[in-house]
Amino acid sequence: MEKVKNLVVGAGLSGAVIAERIASQLQEPVLVIDRREHIAGNIYDSKHSSGITVHRYGPHIFHTTQKEIWEYLSTFTSWHYFFSKVYAWVDNRYVTVPFNLNSLHQVFPQYLACRLETKLVDEYGYGVQVPVMKLMRQKDADLQFLAHYVYEKIFEQYTLKQWGVSPREMDEEVMARVPVSVSRDDGYFRDKYQAIPAQGYTRMVENMLHSPLITVRLNTPFEKIKNEIQYQRLFYTGPIDEFFDYRFGPLPYRSLRFETEQKNMEYYQPCAVVNYPNNFDFTRICEHKYFLNEKSASTVISAEFPQAFKRGENEPYYPVHNASSAALYERYVQEAAKLPGVYFYGRLGGYIYCSMEQAVAAALALFEKIK
Ligand code: FAD
Ligand code: UDP
Repeated sequence: MEKVKNLVVGAGLSGAVIAERIASQLQEPVLVIDRREHIAGNIYDSKHSSGITVHRYGPHIFHTTQKEIWEYLSTFTSWHYFFSKVYAWVDNRYVTVPFNLNSLHQVFPQYLACRLETKLVDEYGYGVQVPVMKLMRQKDADLQFLAHYVYEKIFEQYTLKQWGVSPREMDEEVMARVPVSVSRDDGYFRDKYQAIPAQGYTRMVENMLHSPLITVRLNTPFEKIKNEIQYQRLFYTGPIDEFFDYRFGPLPYRSLRFETEQKNMEYYQPCAVVNYPNNFDFTRICEHKYFLNEKSASTVISAEFPQAFKRGENEPYYPVHNASSAALYERYVQEAAKLPGVYFYGRLGGYIYCSMEQAVAAALALFEKIK
């Protein structure tokens, strides 16, 4: 039986933060395993034959308001500043998303755009973000018209594709991630720090795991080694329901399929991400060369097709949060609490729809708790 002091399951961002902290702050050895053939989990990127850095699991833009998180990751990477701008393809034209004052002028005649702009600013104030579902409850006829337009053209079909249900059946928080913005700021995120690791995410994670105290074993599922290994602490970033062999039933997830292709043209679209709420089966197309401003004669794009999660067939990407999944997750949390020295965290371990910022913050908080 192999004995290790600290076992980390998952070499994604969450696993890498804990491994790095334990090695650098506690000077203890850590074994990190991952069932995939690479480190970095879903933030994995690699060079395509065209020389373009490709985000294998969808477009990833790091953004945070927290100086400590920014400074922590800056220990492992330098940055290429990247302020993400997204368009949605609506009625054969590009419309800025989150829908803002500029979007009004892209889709409505000037007299109407100006009237709606004045109403929005009067009602909410310049610079305020209004979730679309909140706007839908507006009594004013003009704002109600606008709410319905945004709901129908930007959210309804996209959400149906992405989640398989209409926005009305979703947790409002999900749509509130992309609120109507009473401003002319075209940025997708509003955080102070927004960037891509200059040498890519994989290199950043590689640097985090670069320590004589850290051993990484790839192609190693936890199920395969769990009876052959003894650990004092286990940090588990895989699916919590899988750990308990689905004893209360599987937690619901949405999955994705990415279709990546090289196009023989310098640029395919006007920005890194274009959403397609109303056409096609994919939700968005990302053009990878924008992220690091890489120059090449051809380009590489990935279309993102949401699909049902089928265990063993595809990957769980997004937790589906609703009352019944919250209750089910809670039962697993109670089981987890019975296991001293075992910590569940990260996107799958914590069953959270989390950004990289949140993943890093949660892992750092966990380290503070255990150290
Ligand atoms: P993961 O990256 O999923 O890592 C978990 C790892 O554990 C995986 O490598 C997996 O193989 C491994 N594993 C699981 N079970 C086992 C097991 N039983 N045995 C061994 N290994 C196991 N965040 C942002 O901040 N900005 C963005 O722009 C952004 N875009 C995103 C786009 C998409 C399409 C998706 C899906 C997510 C996006 N995110 C974004 C979120 C970001 O991907 C996550 O915050 C981050 O990857 C979480 O890291 P993690 O380590 O918790 O999970
Ligand atoms: N959304 C939408 N249309 C858009 C963008 C977002 O309907 O053009 C909704 C959709 O339900 C999506 C949610 O808002 O799942 C959150 O969007 P975000 O871009 O944050 O999703 P992620 O990047 O996490 O997939």
